Amino acid sequence: MVIALVLGGAGADASNPAVGKVVNGLNLAVMPAAGRPYAPWYIRASKSVAGECPQLAPALLAAQGYQESGFNPSIEGPPTQYGTAKGIAQFIDSTWATWGEDEDGDGTALGAKDPEDAIMAQARYMCSMVKKASRSGYKGDPVHLALAGYNAGWGWVDYYKGVPPERFAKGQTYHYVRIITSTAAKWGTALGGQLSSEGWTRPVDGQLGTPYRQSGANWSSGYHTGIDFAVPIGTTVRAAGPGTVVKAGAGVSYGNEIVIRHDDGIYSQYAHLSSISVSEGQKVQGGQTVGLSGNTGNSTGPHLHFEIRTSPAYGSDISPVPYLRKRGVTL
Ligand SMILES: [Zn+2]
Repeated sequence: MVIALVLGGAGADASNPAVGKVVNGLNLAVMPAAGRPYAPWYIRASKSVAGECPQLAPALLAAQGYQESGFNPSIEGPPTQYGTAKGIAQFIDSTWATWGEDEDGDGTALGAKDPEDAIMAQARYMCSMVKKASRSGYKGDPVHLALAGYNAGWGWVDYYKGVPPERFAKGQTYHYVRIITSTAAKWGTALGGQLSSEGWTRPVDGQLGTPYRQSGANWSSGYHTGIDFAVPIGTTVRAAGPGTVVKAGAGVSYGNEIVIRHDDGIYSQYAHLSSISVSEGQKVQGGQTVGLSGNTGNSTGPHLHFEIRTSPAYGSDISPVPYLRKRGVTL
């Protein structure tokens, strides 16, 4: 049974899918209509694992459900040597036997074809792999590794020590990860919609330097993945908005860095710091001092490097200025 929670403004602008608000991590107006009845369950599922896996945002779980089944709870895949994938989250029987529970109290007769049960099990199964990924030391974002494990089986993630490359399984797993993370960024960030600006601020007082996506040999990706503020060492760096610190410590290229997860599942990153005054797991207010700017890591001079990302990991950057503008911050 679907529990219809009121999610504020949803569907009111169905004629204009770009309009809508992120409420509880999901912008219902940009989601396909077929997924909206399940939104409360994606939100609930995300909350149920948030203590251990805060990265599993409602939009990510929903985007995965869409990719798996198009939000069709009664769909069955073709039989394979591993079994038949069933339901909104496409569980095969052996995986369902491990992760399936009767969450909505309507019995277990439907098995993996009970959408609410399947969504909750999807989150638990994903979280188990996010934790495994975090411990593994494999390259890549734990969420990306977990998505790959969900799609291909964790054994292939072990085999490749990361997300399987594009040549594996005709690119299916590689593209599965990319499609879901990019869909999640759209569904969780109110493209064209409104985000709360309460508590949002510029991360540092200083002039903008190198812009986003400037290309150059300084960067391993071939382009600049954030924006730079030209500030002397020791300038106060503030959390751009309220959130939870998910990373605070020394990295290689970024030197001392902080990553903060915000309520819409988007992350902000602060790099090359001379000192850090918050720790992982700590909740911060927007504008709260989190450290001092510096010149640590792979840096060509004192500045604050600032990114907005769809995951905690390098490579998931989006353009910071338009995002901050949606948060009421102009640079
Ligand atoms: Zn930079």
